[in-house]
Amino acid sequence: MKTVKDYIRTIVDFPHEGILFRDVTTLFADARGFRMAVDQLLAPYAGLRIDKVAGLEARGFILGGAVAHQLSTGFVPIRKKGKLPGQTISQSYTLEYGEAVVEMHEDALQPGERVLLVDDLLATGGTAEAGIRLLERLGAEIVGCAFVVDLPDLGGRKKLEGMGMAIHTLCE
Ligand code: IMP
Repeated sequence: MKTVKDYIRTIVDFPHEGILFRDVTTLFADARGFRMAVDQLLAPYAGLRIDKVAGLEARGFILGGAVAHQLSTGFVPIRKKGKLPGQTISQSYTLEYGEAVVEMHEDALQPGERVLLVDDLLATGGTAEAGIRLLERLGAEIVGCAFVVDLPDLGGRKKLEGMGMAIHTLCE
């Protein structure tokens, strides 16, 4: 039987020469693959109270929306700077070259709400860390952080575990 990993393809030299890009669009496009990924992302949280799912732009929206539907929770987006129409809070983080900023609506969550953070891939952990900081600033209790792919050599899991986060990934 195929595993989640079998549905993910690698594109060489995208977006830059020397990068192996792990492309989950082939996973999302396959009915069995997508369901398997969503079910496996959810599995560790069975029986736990989750009030909202937060997804990181952009593939975290696709997964997070499906996860939220399955859990019957709301979904909140963590977006790149300048995309959200209401009042926002911002968090910057470091990229390989330069800085980026992610934002949330300041009224997206109530303090004490229990949130599951979802994205497609964990590399250095910088993006997820910025998302965690935003969620914490809004008073969320983060139940866990779930990703389809972990690139362990880039240290993201260690970074987030060092922040006290429980990390769940489906493949390396
Ligand atoms: P990090 O901040 O270094 O952990 O990078 C993770 C973020 O970059 C996630 O939002 C991913 O969607 C994106 N990303 C980095 N590398 C890849 C890749 O190979 N495939 C898909 N997304 C990637």
